[in-house]
Amino acid sequence: MRCKDIIKYLEQWAPKGAAWEKDNVGLQIGNPEGRIKNIMLSLDLSEKVINQSIEKKCNLIITHHPIFYHPLKKLNFFADRISKQIEKIVKHNINLYSAHTNLDFTKDGVSFQLAKKLQLEDIKLFKPLSNNQVKLVVFVPSSHLDKVSAAMHKAGGGVINEYSHCSFRSEGTGTFKGTDKTNPTLGNAGKLEFVREMKLEMIVDKWKLGPVTDAMEKAHPYEEVAYDILSLHNKNVNYGMGAVGRLKNSMTSKEFLKLVSTKLHVKYLRYTPGRKNRIKTVTVCGGSCVDLLDEAINKNSDAFITADLKYHNFHNAEGKILLVDAGHYETEAPILDEIQNRLKSFLNKEDIKVLKFKGSTNPIIFYNKLGAN
Ligand SMILES: [Zn+2]
Repeated sequence: MRCKDIIKYLEQWAPKGAAWEKDNVGLQIGNPEGRIKNIMLSLDLSEKVINQSIEKKCNLIITHHPIFYHPLKKLNFFADRISKQIEKIVKHNINLYSAHTNLDFTKDGVSFQLAKKLQLEDIKLFKPLSNNQVKLVVFVPSSHLDKVSAAMHKAGGGVINEYSHCSFRSEGTGTFKGTDKTNPTLGNAGKLEFVREMKLEMIVDKWKLGPVTDAMEKAHPYEEVAYDILSLHNKNVNYGMGAVGRLKNSMTSKEFLKLVSTKLHVKYLRYTPGRKNRIKTVTVCGGSCVDLLDEAINKNSDAFITADLKYHNFHNAEGKILLVDAGHYETEAPILDEIQNRLKSFLNKEDIKVLKFKGSTNPIIFYNKLGAN
C-alpha cells in the first residue's frame, strides 16, 4: 500500500479542500509513492512519537496538528525543537501527514467524536461552513442525460447532507451554428441548429469541481460542452464547525461535569454555571472554539464544551450557558480511535499495523498541593 493510497482514503472522509483556508493540511514530509509498513497516530508530533514510530517500524505518522503551521525560515538541528524533529523524520524515511481543520469540519470528525464520547445522541454539525460550493449547470441532449448525470454524481456532485444524486432537470431549446471546421454530433456544420436539450444542474463542493467537470465532459456527446459554473453563498451542510446533540436523559450540571471529567479523563475542569441546572442539549467543539460561544447561547444549548478559554469568556457565558473548558488535548483525543478504526477496516487485508502513540503529547500538567499529576 502506497502512502498516497492511504491519503486518498482519508481525504474522502476529510477532504483537504474543506480545511480552513489558512491551515496547512496534507502530507507534510514524505514521498506519496512510498510503501507504508506501519502507521502511528498522534494528536501532535514529538520526539517521543518519532522514537516510538522508529521502534514499532512505522514509516507513516498521522497527526492532527501540522508541523508546518507558521512559516519556517531556517532549520537549526541543534537548538530548535521543530528542526530536530524534521531532521529525525527525514533521516528515518518517515512520512508525516496531518489532517487538521479538515478533520475538525467533517462529519464523524473531531467534534463528532467528542460528542459521542459524552454520550450525546442525534449528533449534527453545529455551524455549517459556507462559500465553498458551486452550482454546475450543463446542457445535454436527453439521450445522454442519464449517462452524464450518473458520471457527475459518481465523481461526487449533488450531495446534500445525507442525500446523494441531488440534481434538477429542465427541458428547453439549445441553439448552435458550427463553422466548417466543426463536426457536430447533432445537425450539420455551417447551419443554425435548434435542438431539444435538457438543462442539468447540481451543487458541487469546490474541491470536487475538477473531477466532476472532467467526468461530465467525458460522458457528454458534444464536441464542445456548454456549461456554467456559478458561485454559491449557501451554507454547506456537509461540513461545519462543532457538533450539537442531546443527552438521552437530562442531568444536573454537577452530574454532567462528572460525566465530562470521567469520559475525557480530565482531573480539573474550568467552568461557569449556565441559566439552568438541568442539562439536555449540548454543543461541543474540540480544540479552541470560543467563537461559537454566542451562537451556542443563542441556539439555547444548555452547555458548551470546548477549550483554550479566557477569563472574560467565562464572564460572557455566566448565567447563560454552562461553559466548560475541558482541555485542548482532552477534547481532541477521542478522534484518534475513529482514525484508527477507519484505517484498520480499510487496511484489513494488508499487513500494516495502525497504532496509537502510547503516551500523551499534552504539554499541560496540573499541579496541586500533593504534587503534579
Ligand atoms: Zn487542536
